Amino acid sequence: MKIADRAKQIAPSLTLEITARAKKMKADGMRVVSFAAGEPDFNTPDYIVEAAHEALNNGLTKYTPASGTPALKKAICLKLKNDNALDYEPSNIVVSNGAKHSLFNAFMAILNPGDEVIIPSPYWLSYPELVKMAGGVPVFVETKPENSFKITPAELAKAITPKTKAFVLNNPNNPTGAVYTRSEINALAAEIEKHEIFVVSDEIYEKLTYERRHHSIAAYSDILKERTVVINGMSKTYAMTGWRIGYAAADERIASAMSSMQSHSTSNANSIAQYASQVALSDRLHGDAFLESMKATFDARRALMMLRLQRLGVEFIEPKGAFYVMMSVKKFIGKQYDGQRIRSAFDFASVLLEQALVAVIPCESFGAPDYVRLSYAASEIDIERGLDAISAFVSQLKD
Ligand code: PMP
Ligand code: GLU
Repeated sequence: MKIADRAKQIAPSLTLEITARAKKMKADGMRVVSFAAGEPDFNTPDYIVEAAHEALNNGLTKYTPASGTPALKKAICLKLKNDNALDYEPSNIVVSNGAKHSLFNAFMAILNPGDEVIIPSPYWLSYPELVKMAGGVPVFVETKPENSFKITPAELAKAITPKTKAFVLNNPNNPTGAVYTRSEINALAAEIEKHEIFVVSDEIYEKLTYERRHHSIAAYSDILKERTVVINGMSKTYAMTGWRIGYAAADERIASAMSSMQSHSTSNANSIAQYASQVALSDRLHGDAFLESMKATFDARRALMMLRLQRLGVEFIEPKGAFYVMMSVKKFIGKQYDGQRIRSAFDFASVLLEQALVAVIPCESFGAPDYVRLSYAASEIDIERGLDAISAFVSQLKD
């Protein structure tokens, strides 16, 4: 008996796999430094944890409406209004099991088999797999260093064909850390208005920008708002990766299709986490204080990481947002470590983990085969220790 062709096309998530491998090595007593993590290394703030206790004590342990509680949806609408100048009604909001699930629902709602989805590269590795699961065809557009790895309106226009159904904008970007300026967003939006395509705007790193603010493309015009599915969530902003709450804001037709599909697959997201998320978003005083301190910590680590990479003498992409740096390993490919030939970024990451006990993510599945991704969701001590180990490792590479 054969399994579905669909299943054979999908690769497992390498980020989750390597993160889990590094965690296991640590649990086994090895002194691993992990730059693999795609999650803040902060605890969820106390006021949110307390809200979860409150939810449990008050019996909020039952099914909720599939697309989320009315109170959480209201809090999300208020957030989108205050932070992003976007006016939505609760009927436009769908709360799901993490932003990844929101993305899955969004592609399922907008794609027909064979529809093309434009994805600027480098990209977060789940987009192509999610598009394929929904029957779509990922179309990659390579962004250029001279444009700070941001897609230009001309590049987008060139990639659009009669089969194009959607464009994925991940701003701030994982893995490059690119953040679009308002005028760059406006220029892209003006191009999109000329075509009949949807935008899937993944804004999950919205709050983690260091040199400029984030601007949502949906706020450009009513036309853009109608065509855009805004994706966001609690994971990165409030250090709530394990709670699994993400959300989408979209035109009612799309939102209601997403909600119907979710009602037959996972039903509602966890009721306790939904209440805690409502409190997280509504208590701005605590929320903003937490965010400010987390962001300042990330910014200091970003500076340290860049300083150490400069000293190492490698090329890297200077990040303006999120918590990742892409480091080029091009000059190490073809060399060997203790008889082990390094033929790819994947080999570099594997041998580095085995020999130097440092976990990084090879970027082949991010569409950037010359790079590895280092997350600076790690303490300054770990950044120093990890970069010491990487320096020692590369100094032992031989031709
Ligand atoms: N989008 C991007 C760009 C991400 O890096 C992540 C990280 N997992 C997600 C979406 C999904 O986050 P989550 O499912 O934890 O909300
Ligand atoms: N988004 C994070 C990352 O890129 C978390 C892992 C995942 O969901 O893929 O590492």
